[in-house]
Amino acid sequence: MSHTVAVDIGGTHIRVALYEPDSVTPIAHQRTRSLANEPGVYDRLEKAIESVWKNGHVRAIGIASPGPLDPHTGTILATPNIPEWQNFPLTARLSEHFNVPAFLDNDANMAGLAEWQFGAGRGHENIVYLTISTGIGGGVITQGCLLQGFRGMGAELGHMTIDPNGPLCGCGQRGHIESFSSGPSIARYVKEELLAGKRSSLQGEAEITAAQIADAARAGDALAISAFERAGYYLGIAVANFLAIFDPSVLIFGGGVSQVGDLLFKPFEESLRKHTFHPHYLDNLVITRAALGDDAGLLGALALARMKGP
Ligand SMILES: [Zn+2]
Repeated sequence: MSHTVAVDIGGTHIRVALYEPDSVTPIAHQRTRSLANEPGVYDRLEKAIESVWKNGHVRAIGIASPGPLDPHTGTILATPNIPEWQNFPLTARLSEHFNVPAFLDNDANMAGLAEWQFGAGRGHENIVYLTISTGIGGGVITQGCLLQGFRGMGAELGHMTIDPNGPLCGCGQRGHIESFSSGPSIARYVKEELLAGKRSSLQGEAEITAAQIADAARAGDALAISAFERAGYYLGIAVANFLAIFDPSVLIFGGGVSQVGDLLFKPFEESLRKHTFHPHYLDNLVITRAALGDDAGLLGALALARMKGP
């Protein structure tokens, strides 16, 4: 029996798991630190893989990692939490050491792939997956294929420009959808409104998070409610654009911010209807929450290795 190793590289930890064919329940797993201030990340990754390796006959390794990266060459270009990986040939190093093929793609693409294969997107062939948390990431399945693009940089949906004069995005550009609707962007808006003199129960809080704003909104705080209305409004504009490009049958939302529910999704759906160029895009369009939670990256890496591996 040939097994698959899946790797999920996160901000603080790397998770490694070993899967039997046709199973999504790991038979062995391991965690190791990926923290920026501790060098030797690659060596820790290699050891973690070795520790699950002995439990089966492995035919391929799949990896989900924050980008930017090049999935075609398996190179990490630069990843914010691991500064020692600059133009780092990750799959080449792993293939050489373990003598099996290794495959890499970014974490949002992998979460989208996992939702398609094992989660909320099962049975669909045209999927737009969005994760809304500290940033906004996208993954697209189009006509039964994972969209990667010529340079492997396709489906960066969080960096679609909504307003060129809008707020500064995490990437340095202005007015991307991430700069309106990510968790930190929602919090930044509330802080700015407080500074401008708006009254709110959040006044006087040292640090304001999207979760706190959600609690305040549920308690009826007008500024907090308006912050999610604004985020949902802009998200609706962005997704109307995605409908025009990809014409999906399902929209899947992952990430912490999407768990606030109606606070975000009511204004989102209203804005989506308003900005979609033709109502036919909305016929039988499923709008749903991601099903796989924290395992999405790992399961996407598994699906990638099974899809591309021997
Ligand atoms: Zn951006």
